[in-house]
Parts: sequence; structure tokens; C-alpha cells
Amino acid sequence: MIISMRLHASKEEVANVRARVEEFGYKVHSIDGEERVVIGVVGVGDVTACLESLEAMPCVEKAMRISAPYKFVSREFRPSKTEIEVHGSVIGGDEFVVMAGPCSVESEQQILESAEIVARAGAKFLRGGAFKPRTSPYDFQGLEIEGLKLLDKARRLTGLGIITEVMSDRDVELVADYADILQIGARNMQNFALLKTLGRCRRPVLLKRGLSSTVKELLMSAEYVVAHGNPNVILCERGIRTFETVTRNTCDIAAVAALNELTHLPVILDPSHATGKRSLVPPLARAAVAIGADGLLVEMHPHPEKAMSDGAQSLDPKQFAQMMKDLEPYIQLWKHARMSETATPAAV
Ligand code: PEP
Ligand code: MN
Repeated sequence: MIISMRLHASKEEVANVRARVEEFGYKVHSIDGEERVVIGVVGVGDVTACLESLEAMPCVEKAMRISAPYKFVSREFRPSKTEIEVHGSVIGGDEFVVMAGPCSVESEQQILESAEIVARAGAKFLRGGAFKPRTSPYDFQGLEIEGLKLLDKARRLTGLGIITEVMSDRDVELVADYADILQIGARNMQNFALLKTLGRCRRPVLLKRGLSSTVKELLMSAEYVVAHGNPNVILCERGIRTFETVTRNTCDIAAVAALNELTHLPVILDPSHATGKRSLVPPLARAAVAIGADGLLVEMHPHPEKAMSDGAQSLDPKQFAQMMKDLEPYIQLWKHARMSETATPAAV
């Protein structure tokens, strides 16, 4: 349930509403806004009676039930997009944000070179896994803390923000000390212990869609993080598993548009994991801009043929720079569309 207070409601009026809600057995989850306070309520009780009682209070503008099972991340709860300010960028605002870099942090030279290349081409965040989820236990597992330190060095040298994966709830604090955005990999989308810990974390979270997860399940996982206290969640479509074998995964591009209808959270596309083929990355990146994604997560390796993971889907420096250049006119159109979406209609 959400309760929208009348403009400039006093603290005492908000406290009265809280008391009324608790009398009905519900719990106040969040209180947002300054001029107009919006109260989020969860729990089990007699909804109809509670709504009627709240609407009878003069300080309450509107009280409504949220029908989606994901409450706080739904568009019903917040009609305007969530804007996440991180490392000088705003994700979900009027900037199309590109995060790029190698699949894994492999060495100092490799990550510093990658950082320079992606920064020069216009990316705002450097990606690179220090903890790697690999299908085989015999494959490269990542440089772990050493990799985090190298990412930190790359940030200091280039000014890029850092996004890197955290695989376990035990490592959340450690990774949050180095990263600006914590990436939750597809294989961990339903690691509920991890999601709860991320709720208590101070960093924005980029939540990737699970290999066989529905859009609704992705939203329920995001709800875990938000319900546990962290409202800064970015969703990422990275392809799902289907019967198709031409691509590594099937890019569910429609999910980006569907998510934009269902949630106020920013949505980005990872065209690298979605296809597994570098030749398909630029066309899908264009599709992401056209469909209204908020940004991209792209793999770029200075020498893809030597990559320790995901070389086949990594762009080389030239291809990455070309893709960024080719995206420019599309991003101009994206900005016009974004401005007209967010413009407040003139009063008549
Ligand atoms: C990655 O970004 O390198 C990665 C492992 O992605 P995903 O979790 O989507 O497979
Ligand atoms: Mn990868």
C-alpha cells in the first residue's frame, strides 16, 4: 500500500498516519519526499478497511493498494524514473551511460590499457571481474582482491567509475570498498542471502537477469534489495537461455521495453553476454538505445585473442571506438525522446 500525504503535511500528521497503519497490523517501510511525503506500507491485514480509514484522515491525499507482487520497484509505486547518482554520472536520467572493459581483470597492464581505451571512447565506467563465476572449476577464477586493487588504480588514473561483480554475501563489504557499482551476475540473481546483504550496502547494485529467469522474477529479486534498504538498483538484460544456438544466449530486447513499463528502476543492456559474438554487439547496442535503455555494459579487451575469458564476444579497441562513434546520432535522438518523456506538461 502507498499513502500520499497532502502537500506540506506536518511531522505530527505523518506520525498519526503511521500509528493508524500500525493499528491495522501493517508496518511502515519507507517515508520519502519533503514537500509531499509518500509512505510505503507492507504487511498483511484488512486492506479495504485500512485504506478507507486512511482516506478519511484530512492529511491524506490518497491511499492505494499496489497490485504487483513487487511493490517498491513497481511503476505504480513511483511513476517517475529512479535516477541513480554515482561517480559523477546519473543513471536513469538524461544521460546514456556506457560501462565497458574486459570480462576479467587479468593484469595491471591489461586493465590500465583497457581503462584508457574505454575512457577515451566515452565510457563512464570501467567493468572487469575480479571474482569470476565460471562454469568450470578449472577455468580462471579471477584475481580477487588483487584485481580490486588494480581496478582502484585504473579509477585513480582515468577518473572512470568502477563496476565489478560480487559473488558472495561474505565479500559485499570488501567489494564495496573498491567498486562504485556492485554487479550481481546472472547466476546469482536469486541468491537471496546476497540480495539481503546488498540491501544494507551503501553502493548502487547492477542486477543481471538470470539465465532462465522471467522478467517478473528479476523484479522480485530487485524488490529484495530495495525492501532491505537499498533503493539504488539498476536492472540488466543479458540474454536468456532458449533453444537457439546461433547466439550464446537469446537477447530478450523486448524485456527492456517491458521493464520500462513495469518499473521505475533504470534498465541497461549487456549485448556481449546476450549474443556471445563481437559482430553482433554494435547492432544490439543500437537497438538498446532505440528501445530506451538507460545504458550499456559492454566487453572490450585490448587483445581479445589473448583474453582469459569471453574473448569471442569482446570488441577490440578499434571496434569499441567505432561503435561509440556510430551510437552518437542514436543517442541524440534518445536524448530528445528522454526530454519529452520527463517534461512536465504545460498547465492549460
Ligand atoms: C560478466 O559480466 O562477465 C558475467 C559473468 O556476466 P553474466 O553474469 O551475465 O553471465
Ligand atoms: Mn564475461
